[in-house]
Amino acid sequence: MSLPAVAVTQTPEAKFREYLATRARAQRFTEQQREMVAYIFSQHSHFDAEELLDAMKRDGIRVSRATAYRTLAKLVDAGLLRRLEIGPRTHYEHDYGYPQHDHLVCTRCKKMIEFQRPEIDQVIRDVCSEHLFQIAGHTLFVRGVCAECNRARGNRRLDLV
Ligand SMILES: [Zn+2]
Ligand SMILES: [Zn+2]
Repeated sequence: MSLPAVAVTQTPEAKFREYLATRARAQRFTEQQREMVAYIFSQHSHFDAEELLDAMKRDGIRVSRATAYRTLAKLVDAGLLRRLEIGPRTHYEHDYGYPQHDHLVCTRCKKMIEFQRPEIDQVIRDVCSEHLFQIAGHTLFVRGVCAECNRARGNRRLDLV
């Protein structure tokens, strides 16, 4: 499930190429990186580095672990990916071309449900202005149990009766 995309003027690949070219020490956009960026931006998801490595390997994309981690850090720095600090591993999702949103996180199946509520953004903006705090973004996770896991739990209980 993903939210409607936000219109952007450049492709993620073009944006990343520009980012690399405009560093203090210009960096080359390698074929491995190009494949990785195309792969990550082919669909919206929440993933950690190891999941991404496994998925790329499955789909025949050969990127070393070191390159993958380095590229993920650069993609965050370039504003293409957003870091989600949840659980023991860092997760990533699209930032570029994707709207600001929050998450419900199921602690059983690890599913993340995305939602947007302008009221929440408004409250955060109000709190920030009360504190003269310059906002750069926010991350909100609501932990709990999703409908499917709840249903499965209910069914198990019925089986025992
Ligand atoms: Zn669940
Ligand atoms: Zn998300």
